[in-house]
Amino acid sequence: MRTTLASSRATPPSSRLSGRSARVFNLLTGAAIALGLADLAILAGVRLASPAVGTIALPLATGAIAGGLAAIRLGASRGDRRLWVLLFAGLALSFAGGVVSAATGNHVDHTGVADILWLAAYPPWYAALIVISRHYLGGAHRSFWLDGLLIGLASATYVAALFLKDLVGLSQTTLIVTVAYPAADLALLGILFGTLLMIGRPSPQGLVLAGGLLFTLASDTLRTVALSGGHTHATGAMSCAWALGLLGLASASWARPAPGRVLPVGGWWELTSPACIASLACGILVAGHWVVLPDAAVVLAAATFACALARLVWTLREVRSLALHRREALTDDLTGLPNRRALFRELEVLTAAGESSSRHFALLQLDLDGFKELNDTLGHHAGDDLLIAVSRRLEAVCPGTLARLGGDEFAAIVPDGSDASVVAAAVGEALHTPIDIEGVGVAVNASVGIAHFPQDAHDSRELARRADVAMYDAKRLGTVVAGYTAEHDEHSLDRLALAGDLRNAFDRDELWLAFQPQVDIATGRISGAEALIRWRHPSRGEIPPGVLLPIAERTGLMPQLTLWVLERAIAQAAQWRRAGLDIRIGVNVSAIVLVDATLPDRIASTLASHALTPENLCVEVTEDAVMADTSRAIAILDRIKKSGVEISVDDFGTGQSSLEQLKNVPADELKLDRSFVLGMVDDPQDAAIVGSVVGLGRALGLRVVAEGVETPQVWQRLADLGCDVAQGFGLARPMPAAQFERWAREPSDRARLLVPDLHTSRSSWRPRARSRDRVA
Ligand code: C2E
Ligand code: CA
Ligand code: CA
Repeated sequence: MRTTLASSRATPPSSRLSGRSARVFNLLTGAAIALGLADLAILAGVRLASPAVGTIALPLATGAIAGGLAAIRLGASRGDRRLWVLLFAGLALSFAGGVVSAATGNHVDHTGVADILWLAAYPPWYAALIVISRHYLGGAHRSFWLDGLLIGLASATYVAALFLKDLVGLSQTTLIVTVAYPAADLALLGILFGTLLMIGRPSPQGLVLAGGLLFTLASDTLRTVALSGGHTHATGAMSCAWALGLLGLASASWARPAPGRVLPVGGWWELTSPACIASLACGILVAGHWVVLPDAAVVLAAATFACALARLVWTLREVRSLALHRREALTDDLTGLPNRRALFRELEVLTAAGESSSRHFALLQLDLDGFKELNDTLGHHAGDDLLIAVSRRLEAVCPGTLARLGGDEFAAIVPDGSDASVVAAAVGEALHTPIDIEGVGVAVNASVGIAHFPQDAHDSRELARRADVAMYDAKRLGTVVAGYTAEHDEHSLDRLALAGDLRNAFDRDELWLAFQPQVDIATGRISGAEALIRWRHPSRGEIPPGVLLPIAERTGLMPQLTLWVLERAIAQAAQWRRAGLDIRIGVNVSAIVLVDATLPDRIASTLASHALTPENLCVEVTEDAVMADTSRAIAILDRIKKSGVEISVDDFGTGQSSLEQLKNVPADELKLDRSFVLGMVDDPQDAAIVGSVVGLGRALGLRVVAEGVETPQVWQRLADLGCDVAQGFGLARPMPAAQFERWAREPSDRARLLVPDLHTSRSSWRPRARSRDRVA
């Protein structure tokens, strides 16, 4: 069932209303307080000169004010108004009953229209309480509404047993009505207390509601007592208690509701209430053995007993199969906290009304920084202890549900009324004090992401994803807390998921290398190939390097990736060389790997293990990579160069480097960025840049490679300028090794358009079939 309770902001109700309604609301509230106090005084025994004030004027005025408050509530509610309609309908009926009763002399010893109206108020109130309980507890406890009726039946039994014998000289209808009032009140209270118990936290709304119902019960009890004492008319206390009841119900509509909570089916409450009721009914039947009970009481008791038993059996059967299963499925073994599934169930309930919901809350997602390292150094036992200790600390500062999502990830629901950023800061603070694990004080840092409902997302999944994005933002920015911002979300959703997948991609053979040929412009000879990483994701297909590489950088997988590419590219070049295809393989090495002092030795040993000469390898580093950490990167490049491997400055022309800096780089090759090459035929400025880089290369004795050669015109211009090597889609796109081999043997017509005499260096280049034989 989808319901929307009061907007439960911490702001006072009047500030949620428009100007005139707010003034009326304030006025009514003032009057309600004044009249309520007067009612209380009369209930407490203060006597007035004129009894009519206590039995008619005061209660009816209070009732009218209560009706007004509920009406404004109904008018101000947005979205689902079922609850407010029901509550208001009950109030209006009950108030009408009061008016009719006053007009007809306030008799209690016989029934009339007033009683019909009063009793008619109970079904809508009962329905309203069911709406509230469903709202708090979700739809899982479907049989719950039966318990209220059961309590009503049991109460009727008691009232009948206690009072019926003293109620003499009354009509049958009046007797039934007299028993029905307190029984109906107790049914409402039963449902309400049941709900409050199950939520576990009394909310202002629940308490005010309970107060209102207790006054109603008091009024009806006074009525029964008065009747059994021979009274015939309503007393001031009776009427004022009734009025206070109405006031309580109306005020509840303005009080703050409890945060929702999803409970596993099969809690103790499911069994206790029917069990208690059954034993009470049983008690009455047993008592009938010694004292004379009215027949009605015995019949009611038997009916109650039978009903309670049936409910008990039904619940037992339901619970036996569900309880264990559900509880296990919803808690985290290690910490005892709700698990991911439990969290999502609760989120589902909280977000059920979607964007139109007036319920606000926030989801915090947090992740411990460096937990894995900690786990590795101190051992799994210590890791578990740490997670348990962290859970306890988090529980202390989180006002709503706290769940462990798995590993070192937790999530917390921050109900309306608490400030999510304050809670997030408290989380950071709570973990700051070192935790004692096996005698070692371990300080834990967390990254917390916050997403708000309904501002940031309109369903539970989206909300969780956005909290996750925010958490990642916190990690990236190095802050404890970050809120969700749409700008950072662009691709981050996908990237977050992919980050997890990349780790496994190496083992699962999802990565592969594409090779794009490079052709010597003067001779038409295929002189090299650039190795380009590719990721064939099992469900998302090809992931372009533009997506893959930032993920690798972020997750610290770049060194592993670079070594993987080097190994594969060198192996491939060696295999080709053995087969007679003698070309230089270009491998891209990104800036963050250029700080690794072991890189030159690793390259040398990989070359040695595949028996490839260093001249067959060219390490491509971008201009900016070399300039970022100049001395260190250059020292490493120097060592690579000394081993005989060539160095290429990639994307040349796009960086900020000066010629002065370039002088220090041990380069063999300048690789002109394709942005200049692509447009050089049409754009004189691009053409000028290409021309001057070619000139610069010649002056410094460096080979110049033009990237992005797509058309014969560009090829021709490059040839005219004296550029050394061309690479681009016009010759061939990056392709798998096998296809590259075929292309090198028999270049495509398209490539021939650019380079009619395209060829490989050696005439000994053997057909693939034979080279495969050789390998096999
Ligand atoms: P890059 O080093 O500039 O590589 C050349 C890129 O230009 C390739 O893109 C290639 O497909 C593209 N390209 C080649 N000819 C043409 C052309 O005629 N027209 C156009 N429009 N584009 C052309 P790709 O494969 O998407 O790679 C993008 C970048 O990713 C590379 O740029 C390189 O910086 C990086 N990358 C690729 N593989 C690796 C790797 O294994 N390690 C590292 N660190 N970076 C890599
Ligand atoms: Ca490159
Ligand atoms: Ca490039």
